[in-house]
Amino acid sequence: MKVVHSEAHRAHTYAHEVTGGLPTRAWETVARAEAIRAALEAVGHDLRAPADHDAAAITAVHDPAMLRYLETAWSDWRANGLDRATIVPDTLPLAGYRAGMGAATEPASPCGRIGYWCFDTMTPIVEGTYPAARGAVDVALSTASLVMDGASAAYGLCRPPGHHAARAMFGGYCYFNNAAIAAQWLVERSGARIGVLDVDIHHGNGTQQIFYDRPDVAYASLHADPMRMYPYFSGHADERGAGAGLDATFNQPLPAGADDTTYLRALERALDWLLDRTDGPLVVSLGLDTYRDDPIGDFALTTPLYRVCGARTAGTRRPLVILQEGGYDVATLGENVREWLAGVEEVGSVEE
Ligand SMILES: [Zn+2]
Repeated sequence: MKVVHSEAHRAHTYAHEVTGGLPTRAWETVARAEAIRAALEAVGHDLRAPADHDAAAITAVHDPAMLRYLETAWSDWRANGLDRATIVPDTLPLAGYRAGMGAATEPASPCGRIGYWCFDTMTPIVEGTYPAARGAVDVALSTASLVMDGASAAYGLCRPPGHHAARAMFGGYCYFNNAAIAAQWLVERSGARIGVLDVDIHHGNGTQQIFYDRPDVAYASLHADPMRMYPYFSGHADERGAGAGLDATFNQPLPAGADDTTYLRALERALDWLLDRTDGPLVVSLGLDTYRDDPIGDFALTTPLYRVCGARTAGTRRPLVILQEGGYDVATLGENVREWLAGVEEVGSVEE
């Protein structure tokens, strides 16, 4: 399979995130992407670098002011004499802050600015963050291009991941929403209704929000029930879209300990739902934090199931733009991605 991979992610590196108010080890690491790259190279996948893309594809789904923020956050921080390895927010404009008083405006202070745009403390900005995030978008768009040029499936090794980044907000290790940017790009070029299948254990709040009121991109997610797991505030079964987008969002929250059988049934429901509502390529937000040993997940999936999941998804016979999201058990991550892609290839008609 054609695999797109960027070196830019290597400069997006930090030792700690902040969880529950305390510095904890960072899970979203360079080693994750390098483990996947090595596993795919070892079995002969066709790796290539992405093409550069301008910002228009990003601002098609994100607030241009958020792009400007991410582009300037690090230099702004330094220009204000703040000398630390990373930036995370400490003051967040919650819905209750300005309730009844109109929306907040972006402040001038670097500490205030990051709270305005970033919704959690687990998504640090370092010097290499912006180039890495742009590189991940390039990976997503180059992967989508391969599919538009006729590939039946292609895989983009996006890092940082993207599905938690909303139109005007980033977080959850995500800066730009790679899958949403690719889906929008596909809508514009194919004229088809595009499906996004999100199999990361965490609800893809950003992708859902970007397309919530639109009928031309259908979003289906199976994930840990937000009553118990991050991102906590979205992903309930009664969230089905709004306005023209009503019934173009499908959420299946799953219980702790969800096993292969439970998961496969939910995946098949999601695929059937997407087939009914779309007629173009599927973008897959491929998170492997559903694996039983994942340090931040609580599902019980096994490696052989990923091959079955890839095969069932390819069995839709829709072109697949497969983009990496989460997955934090570095020891098995490469193998699990490799198995998912092997399942796709098993179904056939995937050109090398
Ligand atoms: Zn995740």
